[in-house]
Amino acid sequence: MVVDGSVFCLFSYNQNFLMPAFCDVALPVPLDMAFTYKIADRAPVIGGRVLVPFRNDRLAGIVTALHDRQPEVQTKTVLEVLDSEPVLDATLTHLGQWIAQYYLAPIGEVFRTMLPLAAEIKKAKIYRITETGQEVLHASATTGSSRRSRQEVDTQMLEYAVLDYLVLSGDVLEGTVRSATGANRQVLDNLVRKKWIAREDASGVRDARRTIQIAILKEINGKLNENQQKIITALQQANGRLEVDQLRNLEVPRSTLQTLVKRGILELTEEAAEFQVSGLKKRGPSHLDFIFNPQQKAALDSIQKAVEEKTFSVSLLHGVTGSGKTAVYLAAMQAVLEAGRSAILLVPEIGLTPAAAANLHQVFGDQVAILHSALTADERAEQWHRIRRGEARIVVGTRSAVFAPVSNLALLVVDEEHDSSYKQEETPRYNGRDVAVMRGKLSNATVVLASATPSIESYHNAQTGKYGLIELGERVERRPLPQVEVVDMRFEFQRSGEDKLFSQQLVQEVSECLERGEQAMILLNRRGYSSIVLCRACGENLQCKNCSIALTFHKSGYRMECHYCGYKQAVPKVCPGCGSEYIYFLGAGSEKVEERLHAAFPQARIGRLDRDTVRTRHDFERVLNQFHAGEINLLVGTQMIAKGHDVHGVTLVGVVGADFALGFPDFRAAERTFQLLTQVAGRGGRGETPGKVILQTFHPDHYAIQFAQQHDYRGFYDKEVRYRRWMHYPPFTALANVLVRSDKLDQTLKWTGQLGRWFEDTRNEGTRVLGPSVAPIMRLKRDYRYHFILKANGRDKLNRTLKNMLAFADGQKIPRTHLIVDVDALSLL
Ligand SMILES: [Zn+2]
Ligand SMILES: [Zn+2]
Repeated sequence: MVVDGSVFCLFSYNQNFLMPAFCDVALPVPLDMAFTYKIADRAPVIGGRVLVPFRNDRLAGIVTALHDRQPEVQTKTVLEVLDSEPVLDATLTHLGQWIAQYYLAPIGEVFRTMLPLAAEIKKAKIYRITETGQEVLHASATTGSSRRSRQEVDTQMLEYAVLDYLVLSGDVLEGTVRSATGANRQVLDNLVRKKWIAREDASGVRDARRTIQIAILKEINGKLNENQQKIITALQQANGRLEVDQLRNLEVPRSTLQTLVKRGILELTEEAAEFQVSGLKKRGPSHLDFIFNPQQKAALDSIQKAVEEKTFSVSLLHGVTGSGKTAVYLAAMQAVLEAGRSAILLVPEIGLTPAAAANLHQVFGDQVAILHSALTADERAEQWHRIRRGEARIVVGTRSAVFAPVSNLALLVVDEEHDSSYKQEETPRYNGRDVAVMRGKLSNATVVLASATPSIESYHNAQTGKYGLIELGERVERRPLPQVEVVDMRFEFQRSGEDKLFSQQLVQEVSECLERGEQAMILLNRRGYSSIVLCRACGENLQCKNCSIALTFHKSGYRMECHYCGYKQAVPKVCPGCGSEYIYFLGAGSEKVEERLHAAFPQARIGRLDRDTVRTRHDFERVLNQFHAGEINLLVGTQMIAKGHDVHGVTLVGVVGADFALGFPDFRAAERTFQLLTQVAGRGGRGETPGKVILQTFHPDHYAIQFAQQHDYRGFYDKEVRYRRWMHYPPFTALANVLVRSDKLDQTLKWTGQLGRWFEDTRNEGTRVLGPSVAPIMRLKRDYRYHFILKANGRDKLNRTLKNMLAFADGQKIPRTHLIVDVDALSLL
């Protein structure tokens, strides 16, 4: 065994010379090492995949080195060489090593994240029909059934269904056969025993391109029976060519088609399925139809100049909401495409609606590949191959699109660069934005980070000259930013003596807005109906059984739900603690806001956007379409409504409860609040009519609220960055969160204690260790959690300390999966 990426050497072996005896393989397991295997008859390539035995399993891994050094331990042999060319080129391999090193993640898990090709490696069984099976099937079409028991007939029907299915479908995975025919494993075993079908281990790589089967009409000869005639008629009506799937609607047995093929009347061919971006129509003109104003033109020039230099550079594109940033970077991407080079655009999770995809398709045509979380594993692999073959040179996608295998990369754009969805909250815990910067560096490409509310880190980099700064200070067509009014809810409470959800002013403004025939949005960044369920007798709140989290009451379905682990339970009749009947609901969520709005504005057409109403991207799109079309005139929701939508009819934005985030034990609380408020306020007044924002808060004096009110990013930044400097937080220190977790409390405490003593006893120069302390969420998904926060005055120092700590933990037999190392953590909960 060889220890991880440090000996990972790209050209460690002259491959043209002799066949090497061993290869080192990075496997997707939580161990920081590569594994050595003996090479059989065919030499693998560095950067290519091999299938190897691992424990009781077979895993695909990436070859990291070829050599002749006999390992001390016994080695197993490579089962199969899956690629004859590397699937990771030198730049991506290098990028993977950087991620493994920077985020202290096992290299095999990093490679698995970078390659969406798992679907190609099948560990299941595949089935195909044999010659005997084909004969049996044909004989069955001509002979009548003899006398048999009911059960025998049922079994026989199933067997024929399987043969019937396989005769047309070729090699089929076990799961597919079973779900298509209803046959169980016993039926399949029987068929294999009779040699009617063959079973094989499905290993190796298959082409992930989706194909469709096409039936082509050749020459009609001889007599046709009724079913055969049905097929021929359908084909004739379709000019002699039809997808086989469409013929299945005719409800003729599959064997009929096969017979026609045998008689030479039909021919079946396979074709690559056409790539469909989106079936939706675009709304309005595409972004590139706009005529640029001077500031947009200057921004575009600046990006294009950087691209033409073909050297690495990073620019922060800071433009106020509605300033036309998107048009600027799309134009830059189009220029890249015309120059024969490639570009990658990263967008936050929620940014990739089908309509956005349709827009992109319109701008870039078939040259665009769109990668989003709703793709199946097969579709993902298909897109990967399209990009790899150079068929798509513009790639748009969420976080992991940063690994797209484009060549000749000229430009990487990260839209809404401050968005926390760029951070992966599982191993490897990388930030897509920061990886984009590193990929740009390795590829000599231009990187553009765009946002109306840049992260403190990125703006700091622009201030210190590490990044360039491009500012779009005004909205397109000089539209004004909306006027923001802050409503002090403490005063509202004193006046009315009750805890109201909406202030008088908000009610007034909404009603006037709707009367004028305009649209309004109401934000409450918390879903559900009531955020706390409390017993009035003993004061206990009802908590999740897996987490130390208060359960949220959802009125629809009348249940309580944990928003961290998904646990659900019915609302108890009496308090589980003391038996009292006084169960009490406190705090409001978006569901309650919607209900109250219905009561206050019975005429309004209300829609809601949150994770309860949006199950798929299409739900999201449907509600947004209704809002665009004016079928909804009052939209309520969580932060989902704040992101990037451009609805011109919105003239009023109400923010109900703007400030719970300020109470979170997190040094980024003020930054997040400022960003959310600025983004949601930016949804207002994007059309002809100016917008207004009503911001309800219990903390009207907080600087995050005040600077958001004044649309003053710079003012907020100056204040926030001063606190960060005083408190030694990023960007002035390198920060990591080290979390110990286990479902057994004593184990968690033991390991935490061991690590705590190690930190005490070891001089980790330049690193400050806070903790151990219990994590703000003490229990999550059944695990007890303790943590340390490490702050270092240099990246290398932080990295060294963490590496030494992991080595110590390994020596103490603390399992790696129970120790989370989160470098540049965005959440400290
Ligand atoms: Zn109680
Ligand atoms: Zn939970």
